Amino acid sequence: MKKELIIKNKKIVYFLKKSKKAKHLRLSVGRRAEVLITIPYRAKEKDGLNFLLEKSDWILEKISDMENNFSGNFLETEENDYLRYKKLALEIVVKKIEYFNLFYNFSFERVSIRNQKSCWGSCSGRKNLNFNFRLIFLSEELCNYVIVHELCHLKELNHSERFWCLVEKSFPDYKNLRKKLRKIR
Ligand SMILES: [Zn+2]
Repeated sequence: MKKELIIKNKKIVYFLKKSKKAKHLRLSVGRRAEVLITIPYRAKEKDGLNFLLEKSDWILEKISDMENNFSGNFLETEENDYLRYKKLALEIVVKKIEYFNLFYNFSFERVSIRNQKSCWGSCSGRKNLNFNFRLIFLSEELCNYVIVHELCHLKELNHSERFWCLVEKSFPDYKNLRKKLRKIR
């Protein structure tokens, strides 16, 4: 169950979980800045809470890191952020497409920015490219990779060997980048 606590004027949202496997108390801060406390099955809720208070400096630091370092964390973003960053995202994406397409020279119809929850980009059969506005918060390298990935779908609308050969021309280490991207998701 979700609970709240105020520490040093800061609201902390936390969950307490009892685990049969846990031998010790454990703390982690999730990507929405929520704290998860795992306690051994026989421990008391109060023990978990004391542990949280003990580690409160660490938790506050971690949360403020997350708030400051937006690019490192794929934070759940609200509709407001979408409206706020949509235009900027389009500008950045269009520039990157122009840059990489100097090499590929594929033709396409429209580029749009969307507020998608589960995908970074897509390419339609009608040669329209769509990108997630959160792309601009990824590292430069991953952002470029997503652009090139969708760009190559203009030629190969599949994940065949031919498709990956095209991607590889810009990103020889695309396999690693795919892995990195999956971890963020
Ligand atoms: Zn794809």
